[in-house]
Amino acid sequence: MRALVCDGPGHVVLREVPEPEPGPGEVVVRVEATLTCGTDLKLVRRGHPKVSFPTVLGHEFCGRIARVGEGAAFAAGERVTSVVTGACGECRDCREGRPNLCSTAFDHRVWGTWAEYVRIPARIVARGLLRVPSSLPSSSAALLDPVASVLRGLSRVGDVAGRTALVLGAGPIALLFTILLTRRGAGRVVVAGRNARRLAAHAAEGAETVAAGEGLDERVRSLTGGHGADLVIEATGDQAVAEGSPALAARGGTVLLFAGLAHGARLAVLAHRVHYDEVTIAGSFHYTPAEARQALDLLSRGEIPTEHLVTGESPLDGYAAVLERVAAGDDMKVAFLP
Ligand SMILES: [Zn+2]
Ligand SMILES: [Zn+2]
Repeated sequence: MRALVCDGPGHVVLREVPEPEPGPGEVVVRVEATLTCGTDLKLVRRGHPKVSFPTVLGHEFCGRIARVGEGAAFAAGERVTSVVTGACGECRDCREGRPNLCSTAFDHRVWGTWAEYVRIPARIVARGLLRVPSSLPSSSAALLDPVASVLRGLSRVGDVAGRTALVLGAGPIALLFTILLTRRGAGRVVVAGRNARRLAAHAAEGAETVAAGEGLDERVRSLTGGHGADLVIEATGDQAVAEGSPALAARGGTVLLFAGLAHGARLAVLAHRVHYDEVTIAGSFHYTPAEARQALDLLSRGEIPTEHLVTGESPLDGYAAVLERVAAGDDMKVAFLP
């Protein structure tokens, strides 16, 4: 089969690789749509501590089951999407309701969907493989992973109704925050970013937009009557932006560190803000199977305007132009149709 393989930082090629075979409890899916994601772009740019090369890229997908391994409770031809990692269901984190933090989940992951076929591990078939309603297009169903991640993030910050939210970053994840914050009744959503085209997509969803960078602190204060934002969502993954985010929060506010930072990174924040101003710093990582089902439900009911998120389509062999367009911010996400 054909697959987009990354041989090392900066080296992506389309080539023939062996078609996967389903083991016991596994299925193999014929991929119909698979999306670009910041994680793949980062991997192509600078590698990843948990991924060795060569590797087939991609993890956000929707497709039809092509082959079913022994004991898997699915049938060939069913259209499915899935969570990306398989929690064990038995460890302390899983038992206490944090399967997103299960330490072995990433050993059982869906990886390599920028290809004609992908194998789904048994743990995911058992708990995280979801049938897609016929009304939902494959390129929309493939948004399960980012939508679920954002639902997880919002579960960490409490009720947003009536509050002023500041989203740092203007990419697809930031846009999902804008969309869900607006639908959950946030009083105002302000988005700080650099790319005018991306900021326009946020404005179309009802956000106010400001230029990121030097002087953002003053711009946010002047927009919020000097108070700062009740909720600050860090979605850039930039260390300096993350360090500056507590300064943008109002007294009693919350900062959500949504984007990950490099392993070993430390943040220097003003202790004053945490103690005297009761600014809470929260994190969120990945999502639970329940949040994944909630994400598919929102997508199925048409509550996520997917046309603003998946802004292009391409066959696999158009990958060079696709990677350039998403890196430049000309597209939010592109769906490969293998
Ligand atoms: Zn992703
Ligand atoms: Zn576990």
